[in-house]
Amino acid sequence: MPSDPGAGLQPYRNYEHAETKKRIHELVVVSGLLDELARITPRKATENELATVHTKEHIERIKKESATRLGGDGGDLTTPFARGGYEIAAMAAGGAIELFDAVLSGVVKNGYALIRPPGHHAVRERGMGYCIFSNLAVAIGVAKKLNPSLRVVAVDWDVHHGNGTESIFIEDKDVLTISLHQDRLYPHDTGDIDVVGVGTNINIPLPAGTGVGGYYYAFDEVVVPAIRKFKPDIVVVASGFDSAYLDPLGRMMITAEGYRNLTRKLMDVAQEVCSGKLMMTHEGGYSATYAPFCGLFVLQELSGVTKLSDPFAHGNEYPGQGLQPHQRAVVDKARELLKNL
Ligand SMILES: [Zn+2]
Repeated sequence: MPSDPGAGLQPYRNYEHAETKKRIHELVVVSGLLDELARITPRKATENELATVHTKEHIERIKKESATRLGGDGGDLTTPFARGGYEIAAMAAGGAIELFDAVLSGVVKNGYALIRPPGHHAVRERGMGYCIFSNLAVAIGVAKKLNPSLRVVAVDWDVHHGNGTESIFIEDKDVLTISLHQDRLYPHDTGDIDVVGVGTNINIPLPAGTGVGGYYYAFDEVVVPAIRKFKPDIVVVASGFDSAYLDPLGRMMITAEGYRNLTRKLMDVAQEVCSGKLMMTHEGGYSATYAPFCGLFVLQELSGVTKLSDPFAHGNEYPGQGLQPHQRAVVDKARELLKNL
């Protein structure tokens, strides 16, 4: 962001910083929840693994810039990284690969990859929107290389459109991508309802201001029926907590309790169709005070262990949390896409 200390405009840190993720981890530790969880050790994704969904040119460029003294940029000039950024991005993708494998093979029933940088905006040939490699897509790509007939549903509840995941799998009949996002927030020109690919892409561009009522309706009417109809081998989630009501970048109103209930809906349908196999990768979420509680509530639901309540729970009482007619209209339109499956 523009700054000029000489004119009295102090620089401020980038919205995408490590603190939000560190503080989720801290809350999981101090709440005692960590003691109840199995930990999956991440590793760096190899170049061949990254290349299952990214071009060689993109991987090479990031690697080259990462080795320079000042680092480089993911690909849109708003995704800066420092020296060593390649190794960190490869570690994030590798963490997603390891968790995907652990869930698919039954080592754990479900899991959450608390990784950074995020991935869901990165397309095949470049990074964008704070994302360098498409972590979740790489995990799917690596698994599909071993098992080409693998069927996956990728649900994206980050407030921004999951354009990277969508574009990577837009021609793939075995990967159903579903993105719920604030209409035209970011990117400004993607995420519309009429982009369906080969029938396995569903966009639900919800109006700004949508609360838990709108999200529950979208899950009950579109997301859950789509998963039931598609019958995947595993359900994966691009999990952004920037759809939360205290997020500085989004204008949606999900609460920690709302994220918990959405998690339960996915766990129930995953139990029905794929023995409960469900994994999530961390995406956005920029409130350093509230994203940790959203993360904790998702992990509490996934693990079945409850340690803490939400000190910001008053957001659940906001009058606008109920389903509104203009939100219902979008979801009803998206429901028509179920016939493509
Ligand atoms: Zn986001």
